[in-house]
Amino acid sequence: MRRHTASCHCGAIRFAFDVQIDEVVICKCSLCAKRHAVMVGVPRDSLQILEGHSALSSYRWNTGQACHYFCSTCGIYTFHQRRIDPAMYSVNAFCIDGLDVPAIPLRHVDGSRR
Ligand SMILES: [Zn+2]
Repeated sequence: MRRHTASCHCGAIRFAFDVQIDEVVICKCSLCAKRHAVMVGVPRDSLQILEGHSALSSYRWNTGQACHYFCSTCGIYTFHQRRIDPAMYSVNAFCIDGLDVPAIPLRHVDGSRR
């Protein structure tokens, strides 16, 4: 387990979490496909917003159970609360400081069927 820090592009939003990153996930639901998200699973209890809580905007669609957060200034998707498991967040892997995303095993999931 390792502490990771992450931020949006403009830096308004900074957050941190403790997780061992063994894989990154690509989902082919219509939203993840359009934003081309590559994600890391993080337990909700572990994720801390360090800065910029008020800069977070959210987007809900379909059943409205998942909540997708993004920066209201730079528009970057930061993380979302999962629909199937609200105790988990998925974090935008490319927001994580110093993470070599292409070096991590990639798993494809289809969130639209679950
Ligand atoms: Zn931003």
